[in-house]
Amino acid sequence: MATDSARDDGNRAAVEAARAIPGALAGWLKQAPAWAVSLLVHVIILLSMALVVSQTPTEEKARVIVSGAPEVSDAFEEFDAALPEDLPVQEDTPDDVVMADVVPIEDVRVVSTADDVDAAPLAVELSDFGSETAPPTDMLAAVGAIGGTAGGLGGRVTAASREQLVATGGGNSQSEAAVESALKWFIKHQLPDGGWSFNLKECPGCKGECSHGRTRDDRCGATALALLPFLGRGYTHKEGPYKRQLEAGLTFLAGMTIKGNGRAYDKEGSLYSQGLAGIVLSESYAMSQDKRLQAPAQLALNFIMQAQDPVGGGWRYAPKQPGDTSAVGWQLMALKSGNMAYLQVDPRVVQKASKFLDEVQSDDGAAYGYIDSKTPGPARNAVGLLCRMYLGWKKNHPALERGVANLAKGGPSTDLYHDYYATQVLHHMEGEQWVSWNTTMRDLLVSTQAKKGHEAGSWYEGVEGGHGAEAAGRLYCTSLATMILEVYYRHLPIYGEQSVEEEFRE
Ligand SMILES: [Zn+2]
Repeated sequence: MATDSARDDGNRAAVEAARAIPGALAGWLKQAPAWAVSLLVHVIILLSMALVVSQTPTEEKARVIVSGAPEVSDAFEEFDAALPEDLPVQEDTPDDVVMADVVPIEDVRVVSTADDVDAAPLAVELSDFGSETAPPTDMLAAVGAIGGTAGGLGGRVTAASREQLVATGGGNSQSEAAVESALKWFIKHQLPDGGWSFNLKECPGCKGECSHGRTRDDRCGATALALLPFLGRGYTHKEGPYKRQLEAGLTFLAGMTIKGNGRAYDKEGSLYSQGLAGIVLSESYAMSQDKRLQAPAQLALNFIMQAQDPVGGGWRYAPKQPGDTSAVGWQLMALKSGNMAYLQVDPRVVQKASKFLDEVQSDDGAAYGYIDSKTPGPARNAVGLLCRMYLGWKKNHPALERGVANLAKGGPSTDLYHDYYATQVLHHMEGEQWVSWNTTMRDLLVSTQAKKGHEAGSWYEGVEGGHGAEAAGRLYCTSLATMILEVYYRHLPIYGEQSVEEEFRE
């Protein structure tokens, strides 16, 4: 047992070392505008992915039993004013037990107990992540670029930099105005409890004045979809013009997550909503460094990891179901965001997810089906290819090149779900295909955005939501359309030396 003990010490040291990194960054992060932090954060995640897929696993590492629950000492005291009424928060509780009253600390830890066979183990090592299917990438080249110039970053984080990314990426003043107008539409449709609903009649300020609301009662999905475009813009509850509204929104989502012990959705929600909530909580935690969000974010990721189909490695509507490509896309993005935020992500879960992609792919990985390899289509192909990019496929991977060429040939559609993924894929690849795609996509969205009445700033007519629009209506379409127009700065191009070097190098 002496060996185990030594290994445990080593692991603990590794955990502490890993935790020290965010601490060291915290000072800079506090100084920097949120959008810059967002940029950095997205770069970090890409780089961490690259590190992870570039290492060859040498042995099965001991899994870390995390020595403590996520930090809850500042838990939610500032959120109290906006907490949903049904969240059982006691009055006069000391700062450090507010969240513990909602979720016992033991429950936060429970996924790491060795005797819970269904639990997703927590780990800090990510070395075997994606290694079997993903070749090493040239993203490591970008590590040097960032590492060598991180000190210069502070001097580059000006509002002008986002404008420059818009200009070099292919956005324009109309697309930027459309984004701001969309964010205002979301603010007008926030409910008094801080969350959002697909049912626009529930919104006192709208009462259904906007058409194409939905009666579906998935508050988690609606709230997450509403919050994502703010984070994409670089706005958080600590930075930007909507701090108060975003604090209330995050409180609502974090409250649902804590109440569900990690399960963020209820009633008509599903793992699709869980994935979206995982992205929001992880990104907002990473961008704001607000420790109050650490526990809810980790709980949401734990739930995702536990919900993976143990056989096929995918996700669908309910935990442990055989997966579909669409749900897998959202969960992988959530785990990626969590990894970026220094939350605990089990690499074996990610590795299993890449095996799911292997099972549904055809044409050597250029095309992807929904639940098997038999039914490829443009939207599924786009999801599959974006996942492959994040899992480490190189830019010159033949299947990736072929798949991207197929997407480009098809061009933007009015199916926003397809467009959301395909736009990211094309943006990462850059080049002529991107320029051509972007011009059509950007102008389509600028021209189809509603301009009149309460609907001004939203999207529905002239576009289709695609996968999920029937269920989620105008709010869903508006979220996807806004994020498409944020593509220039929401994620830096994975393979883009230009943005990395020009933005982050002196
Ligand atoms: Zn309205």
